[in-house]
Amino acid sequence: MTVSTPDQTEEARGDDAGRARRVSGALRRLHARYASCDEGRIADYIPELTKADRDWFGIAIVTVEGEVFSVGDDEQPFTIQSLSKPFTYALALQDRGREAVMRRVGVEPTGDSFDSIIKLDYYNRPHNPMINSGAIAAVGMVNGSSPDERFERIRGVLTRCTGCDLRVNETVFRSESETGHRNRAMAHLMRNFGILEGDVEETLSAYFRQCSVEVSTRSMAVMAATLANRGINPVTGARALEERYIRDVLTVMHTCGMYNYAGEWAYTVGLPAKSGVSGGVIAVLPGQFGMCVFSPPVDERGNSVRGIRVCEDLSRNTGMHIFETLPSPDGQRGGVLDRIEDVDHPSPVIPHVTEHRGDATVHARSEGPGGPTTSEP
Ligand code: GLN
Repeated sequence: MTVSTPDQTEEARGDDAGRARRVSGALRRLHARYASCDEGRIADYIPELTKADRDWFGIAIVTVEGEVFSVGDDEQPFTIQSLSKPFTYALALQDRGREAVMRRVGVEPTGDSFDSIIKLDYYNRPHNPMINSGAIAAVGMVNGSSPDERFERIRGVLTRCTGCDLRVNETVFRSESETGHRNRAMAHLMRNFGILEGDVEETLSAYFRQCSVEVSTRSMAVMAATLANRGINPVTGARALEERYIRDVLTVMHTCGMYNYAGEWAYTVGLPAKSGVSGGVIAVLPGQFGMCVFSPPVDERGNSVRGIRVCEDLSRNTGMHIFETLPSPDGQRGGVLDRIEDVDHPSPVIPHVTEHRGDATVHARSEGPGGPTTSEP
């Protein structure tokens, strides 16, 4: 367990000590409770991701005051994958403004899988920026006079949000680039519709690179906390994202961040969130904290199984659902972390219902001579 706090007065440190102990204890208990959960499979459609260890498991919470609480494999590097999408969307909004971005990417949930190629909507634009098609379109709207400059601007935003230098895992990048035919197909379709301009391969290369940036549970929690803190990184104190677009980003995370699980997630956890196939999940309680859970086994929708379990447990037991944290009549806003010891009393888990669809899943998708083949986990 690691806890670090930013500089503060002795008095404030004393006030916070009890809460820090409770938060740390709660994270330790959550980690112990779900470490033995053996569900889910490591995504293998990007071959290099199969090298992950299914036992890796980290949890981190970072408050808007800059306190960092973490447990487990909190420093284990993993590739950011789709956890990058909210941040690139923010950058596209900063570069082009709401109207121009909205012309090319909508804000509607699809109810389909993250890599669905079926629905480019009525206006021939991707439904939202949290699925692959919309995320590739967002990369296409990031300014830059060369592909390298465009990617470096994306890396710059991710770096400011984490406060650390971030490197690209070149092996994962190559692995996805060589096998990413589905994303390639989407990108070409969008080029045909005029959603993408210029060289499709250059845009895809920036997208695959963005997905291959290495982060950790702790650094992702700092990024989530930056969204909770109106765009200012609470650990470094530096502005990382423009405040005026934070609400747009959190809105699409809330409605679309967990793909075809977004509705159930909004119902049970109730926080803007984003998941990625390498096993990360981030969640944001605006004005209070950001968190990350990392564990590689994912369910059939591509969401980390332990990530979902931990967040559902925490939400049930602390009332961190955003519609439970509204100010009370006396004007007091619920301080979720002050109630965190309740996590000792778990309530029953809502059963997970597996959808059997004709659609492909994240676990196996290969295209052999006989055409695409898929398998259910
Ligand atoms: N790089 C992955 C892809 O494009 C990201 C998907 C994800 O994390 N859900 O397929």
